[in-house]
Amino acid sequence: VGEGGEITYKKIQSSQIMGSIQLGIQHAIGGLASKPERDLLMQDFMTVETTNFPSEGSNHTPAHHYSEFKFKTYAPIAFRYFRDLFGIQPDDFLMSMCSAPLRELSNPGASGSIFYLTNDDEFIIKTVQHKEGEFLQKLLPGYYLNLDQNPRTLLPKFFGLYCYQCNSKNVRLVAMNNILPSSVKLHQKYDLKGSTYKRKASKSERVKNSPTYKDLDFMEHHAEGIFLEADTYTALIKTMQRDCRVLESFKIMDYSLLVGIHNLDEAQREKTDARKRNDSHSDDEDGDKKGLNRTRSINRQRLVAHSTAMESIQAESEPIDEEEDVPPGGIPARNARGERLLLFIGIIDILQSYRLRKKLEHTWKSMIHDGDTVSVHRPSFYAQRFLDFMAKTVFKKIPSSLKHSPSKRK
Ligand code: ATP
Ligand code: CA
Ligand code: CA
Repeated sequence: VGEGGEITYKKIQSSQIMGSIQLGIQHAIGGLASKPERDLLMQDFMTVETTNFPSEGSNHTPAHHYSEFKFKTYAPIAFRYFRDLFGIQPDDFLMSMCSAPLRELSNPGASGSIFYLTNDDEFIIKTVQHKEGEFLQKLLPGYYLNLDQNPRTLLPKFFGLYCYQCNSKNVRLVAMNNILPSSVKLHQKYDLKGSTYKRKASKSERVKNSPTYKDLDFMEHHAEGIFLEADTYTALIKTMQRDCRVLESFKIMDYSLLVGIHNLDEAQREKTDARKRNDSHSDDEDGDKKGLNRTRSINRQRLVAHSTAMESIQAESEPIDEEEDVPPGGIPARNARGERLLLFIGIIDILQSYRLRKKLEHTWKSMIHDGDTVSVHRPSFYAQRFLDFMAKTVFKKIPSSLKHSPSKRK
């Protein structure tokens, strides 16, 4: 946060970054239309296109009221191919990214990155460090070899890499799929790594409106874990094993499983409570409007193909009750009390390779704490511990006693 309370990144106002990158992306997508579709070539991964955006406009760029800037688009043809792989039409991508103002996420990580969410909830744009941007560029060909073979994955899907340059400052940005729906209340949110060292949400995090909890908090809140149908459990763990093998092959570590939990039974109770409160008051117009907006976004099909949590793990289940207005694709589950849950999950923050990683003091400490002194094996150690934690502590096969609990749907 900069002077005057405005959010800034590298001393540039966030609103200026948002507006400028929308102009940049619009121009980049527009420019692609003239380039015919063709097979990808290796050099497509290396190309960078740079465009100047003077405030007064130019032959190919519109006038604008932001500071003059340069916009770089990395590997435009390659990313077009990846968007196509996930069924994203150029017009739809343009509409998502540019037709409405972006929303800034108020709950970012510790690294100081800024996150923007597109208005339709489909994409997240994250600012990344120079090293992370470079790493993604190098990773691209191999990463997409894997995604092309197996698009059913919980791994992040990258749809663009850009650099906004203004006053000799560089802001690098990646566009990726959004994992957490904002149209539905997430009663709990976890960022899980399978480590216990310092893996507790800070005090300042816990007082937030929708805090992101960590491993130790999860073990406290869900001492018995979260229960899935046997088939769903198997599909989930298989997908994570496959994904971790890919990450390990690139020596990637420090990634997390992001888990958003919508508790259907709790939502029901909240609804009933709200109704009771409303009976004693006059009509709540504001609430009504919100309700309308919500249903509209919920009934939309997802733009990015096979990328809901259920599609990612290639699982199917009976649809949940029609009267519940929840977005599609959450993984049905139960907590130890037998309450019905919907999980929205994905793997995030994979752009830190072991080789590129800063040797922060806490890293060494945690290395010793975790008993992992053979550093060459760290990525494989990380993957194994991650998988173990997910398969044994976080997710469990549903025991038959829970299956027949009274709150099971009719
Ligand atoms: P650090 O390196 O300190 O862990 P970071 O700035 O790299 O932080 P991430 O770990 O990538 O940030 O993400 C921080 C938070 O942003 C996550 O806990 C999550 O709430 C949200 N987030 C990140 N990626 C996504 C995504 N693809 N969809 C939805 N939310 C996301
Ligand atoms: Ca992280
Ligand atoms: Ca990070």
